Amino acid sequence: MTDSSRYSGALLGLACGDALGAALEFEGRDTFEPVSGFTGGGVWQLQPGEWTDDTSLALCLATSLVEKQGFCAHDQMQRYWRWYSEGYLSCTGNCFDIGNTTRRALSRFNLSQDPWMGDASPALSGNGALMRLVPVVMATRNDIQSLWRWTIDSTRTTHASPDCIDASLVFASLLHRVLQGESLRSVLQSPAHPGIPHGQSIQRILNGEYHFLHRSELGKGFYVIEALENALWACWHGDDLESTLLLAANLGGDADTIAAIAGQLAGAAYGVEALPDQWLEQLAWYQELMQMADQLLQLNLSLTASAR
Ligand code: MG
Ligand code: MG
Repeated sequence: MTDSSRYSGALLGLACGDALGAALEFEGRDTFEPVSGFTGGGVWQLQPGEWTDDTSLALCLATSLVEKQGFCAHDQMQRYWRWYSEGYLSCTGNCFDIGNTTRRALSRFNLSQDPWMGDASPALSGNGALMRLVPVVMATRNDIQSLWRWTIDSTRTTHASPDCIDASLVFASLLHRVLQGESLRSVLQSPAHPGIPHGQSIQRILNGEYHFLHRSELGKGFYVIEALENALWACWHGDDLESTLLLAANLGGDADTIAAIAGQLAGAAYGVEALPDQWLEQLAWYQELMQMADQLLQLNLSLTASAR
């Protein structure tokens, strides 16, 4: 599989998962008719193929990395703020959904202009940094030191709790290995934290406890460790990209985010060609997302060349 296919797969997998799950966000498990494609509707009353904050914030981060040709926390936060305040990089033209931890961080950033606004309180361990992470890994694929540093820094602009940092580091490691060509099965069998975990909760993911859980035993996914666990559960049980994203979205709860996280990893593993044509035709901003994936691949190559 080509790098280009893995890069587009990761970013479009994120957006497709987001658009599939948006119809089911906040719904209780098994209280709804499962989706098999883009239906639109849901609490945000979207059109089929439209996506939410997960994809908008990933696009903000990706655009910042490309425009700055590297990591600039202030520029990233400025773009998140523009999304929140004026609908920048939203497919509907406005911000209709924002997580509590992200909103707190952005409001404080707007007053102080200090970009390091993530709260370290364990109680504030939402999934808002995990859902937008993959552009960082795409940009730094050949530079492992930057990969870990940027993963931590891109997380702690808005989410600085131990569990949020751990979840981002473990997910970045999985994404990195898959982007390098390792199989999804193999990475899910041997997840690793690149350092010493900051908290205890990540251990259950490192132990692969979710391999043995029935879907009825999974949480709602708003808490970062649960979001990662649910997404990896779908990756573990899915037979292909389509079934993985549907398994993730149909869990309900934070459905769009669980499927957006699963889509980053499974999309990189199966490649963009594995997404159903009908989804790609309906996906909002298909061309822009493809272009952004390509720009992140170019950025990766130029960062690799300049590091030599
Ligand atoms: Mg969302
Ligand atoms: Mg969500």
